[in-house]
Amino acid sequence: MTIKMDPFLTDLQNCKEVCWKNPNLGKDTKTYFTVADIQDASDRLDRFASYIATVFPETQKTNGIIESRLTEIPDMLEVLKEKESIVTDSQLYLKCDNDLPISGSIKARGGIYEVLKFAETVALESGQLALTDDYAKLANEEFKTMFSKYAIAVGSTGNLGLSIGIMGAKLGFHTTVHMSNDAKQWKKELLRKRGVTVVEHEGDFSKAVTLGRKAAEKDPQCHFVDDEGSRDLFLGYSVAALRLKKQFEEQGIEITAEKPLFVHLPCGVGGSPGGVAFGLVTIFGPNVKIVFVEPTHAPSMLLGLYTGLNDGISVNDLGIDGKTAADGLAVGRPSRLVGTVINPILYAASTVQDDRLYQYLTLLADSENIYVEPSSTAGIASFVNLNQKLASTEPSIQKGTHLIWGTGGNMVPKSEMASYYEKGRSLLK
Ligand SMILES: *Cc1c(COP(=O)(O)O)cnc(C)c1O
Repeated sequence: MTIKMDPFLTDLQNCKEVCWKNPNLGKDTKTYFTVADIQDASDRLDRFASYIATVFPETQKTNGIIESRLTEIPDMLEVLKEKESIVTDSQLYLKCDNDLPISGSIKARGGIYEVLKFAETVALESGQLALTDDYAKLANEEFKTMFSKYAIAVGSTGNLGLSIGIMGAKLGFHTTVHMSNDAKQWKKELLRKRGVTVVEHEGDFSKAVTLGRKAAEKDPQCHFVDDEGSRDLFLGYSVAALRLKKQFEEQGIEITAEKPLFVHLPCGVGGSPGGVAFGLVTIFGPNVKIVFVEPTHAPSMLLGLYTGLNDGISVNDLGIDGKTAADGLAVGRPSRLVGTVINPILYAASTVQDDRLYQYLTLLADSENIYVEPSSTAGIASFVNLNQKLASTEPSIQKGTHLIWGTGGNMVPKSEMASYYEKGRSLLK
């Protein structure tokens, strides 16, 4: 493919850090999903709450609702002000999806939702479940036997595989996870222990998805979770906005035109940040400013949006290798669904080098005693990038409230986390 190069694309190609203000914000008013779609997904998760509480006792304290806390991180803010020479009146919050129950990442929203929706469809069609039933009965043997006649498959860099695998296997489905070469060994082992079939592929994320899709197509009883374009995943993520609204009310956080809310979302294929962003803008309106962040070696969504080619272009087309320590973000080609949905609601996007991801990981651990994985610290870089590169022309950045979306971490084995931490420590010297 021939691409008309310009200075911005040359920077992207050379894996330089960039910060981009989206000129298309507010330009398209076509709605691809509605508030009713978000509510429908939320209602479905409510129906499943008693089942979730039954089979995952760690969710009993939230009555089977898979949710994370919202916490202010003032000590991290002080560290960043000093280290990165940031001048700001903002308050800084972390949405702790790094700590979500069951699978320890933001994928516990969309991934689990899509599996539950498929299970509900199968069970309703069988006539053995009604919408008004207590869904705890889905834990019974008869339903496990029913689900064992069906299969679920997914292609993943790791965390989506964990969510789909753990949930699918728990319900009784034959579950297969196609892993890309970025996927960590411990994730494969954990899944195999839970009875999930793990297929390892040599190629990257896109290849794992393609091969997974092909394998699934051969089996008419198989539901393929398509991370490159699934509406169900997207809507599962979007429910976060309804939950966050409640948390904002409880904590007295107000969003106004003078004091907008900036939300920093690490982006891989775009499904999770896209779904969350769509939910937030739908629920809160234009005073929410959505900011995406990607690794300099995998700026797939930014490339698709900037060129307008969306999923018609891959970072490989610019000769970018797609290799990054942020395994959850190691994606070369963006979702075919999310680009068009996000284009009119995205405020800005930026990129970050891997070294900074490790540094922020260590600084967050030291200042707030919160441990997240490298993909998850990209949101911290996004906060810094916006302040350093955009605040001089966009003063609301220094006045608004900033929310960093933590996206993964609590399933990472201790020894692995310790080596991330040490790496960040050594880079800070
Ligand atoms: C998957 C993932 C993301 C990004 O989500 P996408 O839907 O791929 O854009 C961010 N952080 C972590 C930890 C992830 O696992």
